[in-house]
Amino acid sequence: MKTDVCIAGAGLVGLATAYQILKNQPNTSLVVLEKEAQVAAHQSGNNSGVIHSGIYYTPNSKKAINCIRGYQYLIDFCNQHQIAYDICGKIIVASNVNEEHLLQKIYQRGLANGLNNLDILDQEAMKKIEPYVTGVSAIRVPQAGIADYKFLAAKLVEQITNWGGQVLCNAPVKAIASQGQTQIIETANQRIESSLFINCAGLYADRLIQLAGHEPGFQILPFRGEYYELKKEKQHLVNHLIYPVPNPNFPFLGVHFTRMIHGGIESGPNAVLAFRREGYKKRDIHLGELWETIRFSGFRKLARQHWRTEVGELHRSFSKRAYVKALKKLIPSITAADVKRGGAGVRAMACRPDGSLVDDYLFIEKKGQIHVGNAPSPAATSCLSIGETIAQMAIKQLT
Ligand SMILES: Cc1cc2nc3c(=O)[nH]c(=O)nc-3n(C[C@H](O)[C@H](O)[C@H](O)COP(=O)(O)OP(=O)(O)OC[C@H]3O[C@@H](n4cnc5c(N)ncnc54)[C@H](O)[C@@H]3O)c2cc1C
Repeated sequence: MKTDVCIAGAGLVGLATAYQILKNQPNTSLVVLEKEAQVAAHQSGNNSGVIHSGIYYTPNSKKAINCIRGYQYLIDFCNQHQIAYDICGKIIVASNVNEEHLLQKIYQRGLANGLNNLDILDQEAMKKIEPYVTGVSAIRVPQAGIADYKFLAAKLVEQITNWGGQVLCNAPVKAIASQGQTQIIETANQRIESSLFINCAGLYADRLIQLAGHEPGFQILPFRGEYYELKKEKQHLVNHLIYPVPNPNFPFLGVHFTRMIHGGIESGPNAVLAFRREGYKKRDIHLGELWETIRFSGFRKLARQHWRTEVGELHRSFSKRAYVKALKKLIPSITAADVKRGGAGVRAMACRPDGSLVDDYLFIEKKGQIHVGNAPSPAATSCLSIGETIAQMAIKQLT
């Protein structure tokens, strides 16, 4: 097969990239290769379903820019294609006075990122909208919402194929080689000659960079996020999305309560190191991948810095009582009987050899290749904007 563009990975980033390339250059021949039997099988289909507002991110970072822009693109796309979404709003709760200065910082970031209509609520105002939540104050973020990201992925496939692109499942990329102006990409059954190769492989992004003959400068560490579901009779306890103030030294938002787009309420996700890159269950182990993590100096340095928090996360992963204790910080009346175990997702976190995590999105451009090295949350919200950014890079290389 000969194409202008070959994309590895049919998560939201790969699909949105294909969509934006075809939208801007309709005559491009394009194929998306996905190793699984269906699209959005990993991060994009196992996330919290939240439409993030952009409140948390460093102003002018790629995360902030793409989240704010991607938010509007997402809403427009959902309206255009009848994808379910709900701008139900969210509150971020300071549980005690010590957290209030962090809450203020988040509020200031939100303002710096151009968010309007944010409110700081005192305890009384917070109780009016979330009567069962405890805390000293909160930020109300009216822009936050929830969306059906799996359906978004399906609609992107529909658009891509309507415009003449191809999305091939069961097609894992196994080899990438540059030959002059051509990239040769091989799967088990196909050999593709393409002018441009784009790597959107999520949890395996670093592997594909290596496969293409480059040194990534980071390694992907898989962090599983486990969810619990609130039983039906307790769903009245939650009206919006309810988040704690995140630990500023930890790259995750803390367990929170989320409404789900097709009904029900989830709590989570926690963040525990997975023993394989696609390890959705505690006992999922891949010895080779686990060894690769353990012997990576970046992981050992990261573990040394955060071992206390990680031990706590691990404890909460194995003990429902400990998990519920974390939830009680937001809603004290919740008991272990009110929740049942739900699903899980695995986050791809890019870690440098010095133990620092790559916080921002990372796009690496080489001749004939573009690699999305890091696209963590809020990359579902931001996907159409990330796709547009990569599409602009791609079109430049093709012309
Ligand atoms: C638990 C969790 C909760 C989250 N919550 C939110 C949220 O509420 N809101 C939000 O905006 N973001 C959220 N995120 C982040 C968001 O889901 C991800 O950032 C986003 O989905 C990344 O998309 P992606 O396409 O880069 O990766 P993925 O969706 O993981 O897609 C990568 C694809 O590449 C494929 N692939 C890998 N290797 C190969 C290969 N060799 N050949 C072919 N294909 C390959 C994989 O099978 C996969 O389908 C969450 C993530 C997780 C894990």
